[in-house]
Amino acid sequence: MELTPHINSIPAEPSFYTGPQSPNVFLVHDGGEGALIDSGFGDEKSVHTRVEFLRERSDVKVRRIVLTHHHFDHSSGASQLRAETGAEVVLHGEEVDFLQNWQAEVPQDFEVLKEQKELAERIEAFRKQAAEAGPDARVADGDTITVGGLTVEVLHTPGHTLGSVCLYLREEKALFTGDTALGLGTVAISPPPHGDMALYLQSLERLKGYDCAVMLPGHGQAVHDVRRKLQELIDHRLEREEQVLKLLADGKATPKAMLPAIYMELDRRIVPMALRQIEAHLAKLEAEGRVKRAGEEWALTG
Ligand SMILES: [Zn+2]
Ligand SMILES: [Zn+2]
Repeated sequence: MELTPHINSIPAEPSFYTGPQSPNVFLVHDGGEGALIDSGFGDEKSVHTRVEFLRERSDVKVRRIVLTHHHFDHSSGASQLRAETGAEVVLHGEEVDFLQNWQAEVPQDFEVLKEQKELAERIEAFRKQAAEAGPDARVADGDTITVGGLTVEVLHTPGHTLGSVCLYLREEKALFTGDTALGLGTVAISPPPHGDMALYLQSLERLKGYDCAVMLPGHGQAVHDVRRKLQELIDHRLEREEQVLKLLADGKATPKAMLPAIYMELDRRIVPMALRQIEAHLAKLEAEGRVKRAGEEWALTG
């Protein structure tokens, strides 16, 4: 699907996945050169669809696969797409250990219950595939990636994960945001060391400073009113933070106790994610000296 003269989206329907928004993969191309932004899932069907797309575009030599972050929905297809294209897989340095330690407990974008054995095994296999992606090279804030005559700027935007990056295609004022800003809804933010709410808000503020004609998120549709979308995401987090402070004042001293007030109807699968999100707010407030922790319990300071 052509989104702009230099950007294609390469959609694929994963064979196993029934969730709302499967991950996006984009091809940036110019003058016979290309770069993929994220690689999507590594299941056979997704990879096959994307390989077919790239074969039809044999006029484009894909030189890089840039992963916005380590999560397996964005990275597990990378090793197979690299084998097909000969491209180099690149990732921010702070993501490398999380990508490679595929057996470690690391929050991802999808949660499964222990009894969902088949899905849990599938996810384990995806994480192993993701680890095989390498990377071949690391990127850092301020790096530029050349694609034909185009320049893609790497912006380190920690928050969703500590090494998340966004990519800004200067010539088209297009901002690829990975999971830092989605097309619809909000993304999970974990407390350190997996995520950071304070850094997340700083990252969103920073992105607002870019002149963007279009935002292309890791999940969901393109967004055209980019600054407004980013402000909405900031406002949502600040409202949630106020809610956490109010619940603390009302004597709800643990994330578990706050949960029902914040999330009215919660799918059991996303309870761990929701708890981590509250913890991420508390960690930010603690660093600011506004709350303190005693064992499992939290309280307002002063
Ligand atoms: Zn994702
Ligand atoms: Zn993610």
